[in-house]
Amino acid sequence: MVEVFKEGNDQAYFEWMKKNPNGFVLNMGRGEGNSFFMIHRSGCSHISPYFQYDDKAYTGKYLIKIVSNNVAEIEKHCAENYKKFPGTFRVCKSCRPEYMPQEITYPDELEEDETFIEGAKKTVTVNAYERDPKARAKCIAHYGCRCMCCGFDFEEKYGEIGKGFIHVHHLVEIHTIGQSYKVDPKKDLIPLCPNCHAMIHKKSPPYTLEELKDKINLVH
Ligand SMILES: [Zn+2]
Ligand SMILES: [Zn+2]
Ligand SMILES: [Zn+2]
Repeated sequence: MVEVFKEGNDQAYFEWMKKNPNGFVLNMGRGEGNSFFMIHRSGCSHISPYFQYDDKAYTGKYLIKIVSNNVAEIEKHCAENYKKFPGTFRVCKSCRPEYMPQEITYPDELEEDETFIEGAKKTVTVNAYERDPKARAKCIAHYGCRCMCCGFDFEEKYGEIGKGFIHVHHLVEIHTIGQSYKVDPKKDLIPLCPNCHAMIHKKSPPYTLEELKDKINLVH
């Protein structure tokens, strides 16, 4: 859970740090000055009570503290609420929080445990289709390993280690799929490089292949 301390209640903020010694604290400038986004570990001396500072110095006047035990939640909160958020935090060199910028996850490229049981009937999410080795193999046997959007080919670029590497994207929207749906690897799956795969999922439901092709400067 993300909590935001910005009303000048420094004591409540200090209490939070005491209760959450492994938490993360984002220290941020106010208003138009939301220019720095520095992430700290709870209790770091840079963001802890210091006798010379007056009241409200931490969460009023110039600064806002955004806290959570999950740094990814703070990142999401900033992305949603602050236009100036550059996408990653600066990391305090004093407390050195172990912070890794969020990686892009593809909604349908998550782990295979996305297969779940609903009552008696088995529900399979889209990613299971994209991950299904048989469906993947059939898709690749049909289309090859070249990205169908930009034409990138991993073997061409990286040689031996790139051989056979490609993402497979599922074109059918999961919520339109009936129970009896069976994936058609030629009609429903296409090979995409990871860049194009990330871009096609920039909106939900995803762009169509044609829409994405139109966005890149390619003669096709
Ligand atoms: Zn720090
Ligand atoms: Zn591509
Ligand atoms: Zn996909």
